[in-house]
Amino acid sequence: DEEPVDPSDELMFLCLGGGNEVGRSCHILQYKGKTVMLDAGMHPAYEGLSALPFYDEFDLSTVDVLLISHFHLDHAASLPYVLSKTNFKGRVFMTHPTRAIYKWLLQDSVRVGNTSSSSEQRTELYTEADHLATFPQIEPIDYYTTHTVSSIRITPYPAGHVLGAAMFLIEIAGLKILFTGDYSREEDRHLISAEVPKNIKIDVLITESTYGIASHIPRLEREAALMKSITSILNRGGRVLMPVFALGRAQELLLILDEYWARHAEFQKIPIYYASNLARKCMVVYQTYVGAMNDNIKRRFRERLAESEAAGDVGRGGPWDLHYVRSLKSLDRFEDVGGCVMLASPGMLQNGVSRELLERWAPDNRNGVIITGYSVEGTMAKQIMTEPESIPAVMTVREGARGRGRTAGGEAEKVMIPRRCTVQEYSFAAHVSGTENREFIEEVAAPVVILVHGEKHNMMRLKSKLLSLNADKQEKVKVYSPANCEELKIPFKTDKTA
Ligand SMILES: [Zn+2]
Ligand SMILES: [Zn+2]
Repeated sequence: DEEPVDPSDELMFLCLGGGNEVGRSCHILQYKGKTVMLDAGMHPAYEGLSALPFYDEFDLSTVDVLLISHFHLDHAASLPYVLSKTNFKGRVFMTHPTRAIYKWLLQDSVRVGNTSSSSEQRTELYTEADHLATFPQIEPIDYYTTHTVSSIRITPYPAGHVLGAAMFLIEIAGLKILFTGDYSREEDRHLISAEVPKNIKIDVLITESTYGIASHIPRLEREAALMKSITSILNRGGRVLMPVFALGRAQELLLILDEYWARHAEFQKIPIYYASNLARKCMVVYQTYVGAMNDNIKRRFRERLAESEAAGDVGRGGPWDLHYVRSLKSLDRFEDVGGCVMLASPGMLQNGVSRELLERWAPDNRNGVIITGYSVEGTMAKQIMTEPESIPAVMTVREGARGRGRTAGGEAEKVMIPRRCTVQEYSFAAHVSGTENREFIEEVAAPVVILVHGEKHNMMRLKSKLLSLNADKQEKVKVYSPANCEELKIPFKTDKTA
């Protein structure tokens, strides 16, 4: 058993980002001379070059294929940088819906980035032109369809989480690796939830560990609690701010709200806003990809079409034609009077529309902020949950005042805003709970498990839990939780045959 391992029988795994953290996901796999890169994200709590994965630590020119699991910025936003500013020359794959949404989303994030308050100290990582010029290099693929690229076999499976999200099965010289990306297993209103690929013996599982061992409140209870919280803010005359990532989970929340409003006439005079300059464009993408969603939304699709036909309203209808939601392109057109429910991006309140509204509404104790996503360390969304007395103004400081406030070091003087609004959290982030993750890991039954995409403390709790399950096992499962830039070498016996 202790005979020396031939290096050619080792799998090399390296996190360039997303190791013991949530953000800037990027992992490298090397086996038998083949190199696969998983995701190319950015870190939401950092700016400029420091938001990138540690690309300098690896020769990207050796990468054969790059797989992007889903369109979220922590998984996809540094792709234009990889394609336009590094020596990467491999092939890039993502699912059809991911590719469609990625195009608009990145274009928007470049534009927003350039006009945000912090743009002055931001190093521009890539331009809109870089993004558009590199976009055609991305090859779209379908779920359950296998592609072979320089003898690496790749198959995407549905991952739940957001539209188009994929788990990738990767096969190199007979070694089977499953990468979950971000995934969810609970039934939601529009997505197909993740399942273990059938009849495939997985050798290595690379899984997210966002929630560690934490459990989720059951879906129906969570929805009821969310609606109770929203309506009680409205009933006291307040405004509800729900910071959301522009796309993905926002659509699920809009379906929940629209349904509730349809059943409760007393709220129908209170507007629900979806503030995103991408809202309309992306709703078109959502209409287009109904086929990639679950049976619930397909049924809704048929019902809505029948409704609109009966009303002689041809050309309208479809599941994403929401009755009580108004899209809002920018705050210039927003009349801020009376109660409302506002879904605004970005989801972690770093800057932009959601931050501007937070700064405007935080001083009034009738108002409420409701966090529904996963909040990364170092962002305002994480900070606001500690209910601080006051928060720093980044959007509402007037230019002149900011100029005068500069110290010799060039640091802007902080203007603080009192925080009296309520803050509550109900997770609709669509990551597996600790229990769901553990069940999935047990079902996959890979002898090697690598944990990524989790803050260190969450990841360590999950790791100990998984190791404790070894007591009942004949073959002990190896569990790794590598830090960024820490190279793992995992031996595999040569009797693997392709
Ligand atoms: Zn995600
Ligand atoms: Zn993520």
